[in-house]
Amino acid sequence: MLFLDAYIDRIPGAASTGLRADDIERADWIVVGHSHFDHLWGAERIAKRTGATIIGSHETVRIMEQEGVKLSQLLPVGGGERIRLSSEVTVAVYPSLHSCVWTPKGGCTSPMRSAWATWE
Ligand SMILES: [Zn+2]
Repeated sequence: MLFLDAYIDRIPGAASTGLRADDIERADWIVVGHSHFDHLWGAERIAKRTGATIIGSHETVRIMEQEGVKLSQLLPVGGGERIRLSSEVTVAVYPSLHSCVWTPKGGCTSPMRSAWATWE
């Protein structure tokens, strides 16, 4: 079971997905495009509940570690990696630049490096 991003619980006023991150019972991988909340929020709860591995930028991994996800469930990428998720699915990671992320426990002063993934 694979998630592309984890933004399942929407902000108030936004259309519901019909699911809640806290209700996800099975996940093997969560591939996060970048660490803005509308991609990342909920990944920490899904990972903790299911044991899934989160693949994401170093910023994504930093935030998820702060949120209590075990390091053994975090796979940082910077671009150029090819990661086999199963016998049928491989993810290729491409580097990109995106705007600074803000988090309650920290921030950054320059554009962050993020990673985008494509599927084969
Ligand atoms: Zn963004």
